[in-house]
Amino acid sequence: MIHNFNYHQATSLKETLSLLEKCRDDYKIICGGQSLLILMRQGLVAPENLIDIKRVKEMSYIDYDPKNGLKIGAATTHREIEKSPLIKKYFPVLAEMEKNLASIQTRNWGTIGGNLAHGDPAGDPGPILIASNATVKLASLERERILPLGDFFIDIFETTLEEGELLIEIQVPILPKKTAMAYEKFNIIKNNQGIVSVAASVTMAEDGVRCKDARIVLGAAAATPLRAKKAEQMLIGKKIDTKLLAIVGKKASEESDPISDIHATETYRRFLVKNLTINVTRKAWEQAKAAG
Ligand SMILES: Cc1cc2nc3c(=O)[nH]c(=O)nc-3n(C[C@H](O)[C@H](O)[C@H](O)COP(=O)(O)OP(=O)(O)OC[C@H]3O[C@@H](n4cnc5c(N)ncnc54)[C@H](O)[C@@H]3O)c2cc1C
Repeated sequence: MIHNFNYHQATSLKETLSLLEKCRDDYKIICGGQSLLILMRQGLVAPENLIDIKRVKEMSYIDYDPKNGLKIGAATTHREIEKSPLIKKYFPVLAEMEKNLASIQTRNWGTIGGNLAHGDPAGDPGPILIASNATVKLASLERERILPLGDFFIDIFETTLEEGELLIEIQVPILPKKTAMAYEKFNIIKNNQGIVSVAASVTMAEDGVRCKDARIVLGAAAATPLRAKKAEQMLIGKKIDTKLLAIVGKKASEESDPISDIHATETYRRFLVKNLTINVTRKAWEQAKAAG
């Protein structure tokens, strides 16, 4: 059973920030409730005040401009992202991922901001957005700040959000020329969180032969989404082939720090990291080659 709480429904950003300040001692923000209500039902979270931002329309948008890239309001639902012509055109890997995130019912309510703020290392959007160099905009009554998404996650279910602070926007820069991205998750239950997931972004060099830049981000393989930086370095300046991919997959597996739980052992997760890294890096590389 859910405990008693004071319910506050905000209809504007200004009102939300004032409510956060007013309830500073004991509150939780709720947007789609797809993650928070589970915790409340289990009694793991029992806030005195629940601040509902679902009706804050100014936090729900998808904008694109050719200089700054994509801007996604934190209260935008997964389904809106999946269906957006702008996302399909400029960031297709995100639209594809959304198709496999939970059920349509959950995607209709759950939001990108709620997903990131929940801080679950198995969340799907985190690895893709970090691989694309995304930043997040946070706001409180006192200030606004923008930081790389990679710095937003601190620990399992823990983010850098401070008391009185709201995640308001996700910003995705334009991908560099000759860059392609790929994402895969391995799961046992279809359309559920992955046992492990991997996102890769690969940029082809001007010579059309070598890799200029690479980012590999692992999901559910550590306490937060994790960049496999040593594996990335092995790709830069090289022509990517099957032999190199095998070495890179092994390195990413060594860099991961997975747990054993009821879904999979640590050893099995490392095995998955290795193979998913090989798959997604190859996929991104082939697409980058085709784009060049
Ligand atoms: C059956 C099921 C299957 C799922 N499968 C997947 C899956 O395959 N992949 C995946 O990634 N996720 C999955 N999820 C998780 C879920 O879809 C996301 O975590 C969801 O998108 C959260 O968004 P929300 O708006 O519902 O957040 P809420 O539940 O409302 O909030 C989640 C947390 O974020 C905080 N919060 C919300 N919005 C903000 C904000 N703007 N600023 C600051 N803090 C905020 C809340 O206080 C709370 O702590 C699944 C969930 C369910 C129920």
